[in-house]
Amino acid sequence: METSPEQKLLVAIHSEEVFAGRTIRQERPACCGKPIDLYATPVKFQEVQVGLKSFTLLESRCPVCGTWVKPVYSIIH
Ligand SMILES: [Zn+2]
Repeated sequence: METSPEQKLLVAIHSEEVFAGRTIRQERPACCGKPIDLYATPVKFQEVQVGLKSFTLLESRCPVCGTWVKPVYSIIH
């Protein structure tokens, strides 16, 4: 299947860090006018370095059209 328990665990860990982040904040992914459920679609993990720390952003595939949605994020000062 497309999503494994391991992927769901990684999504849970990294979601907490980047969607509610205090250093970096990723926007919730959306495509086709709908938010993407990261637990029900393939996800790729993308490392970014901010200062000395690295964060993992989530790139997800739209379950409707199949497009990979690049992470959009901002650095919070
Ligand atoms: Zn889409």
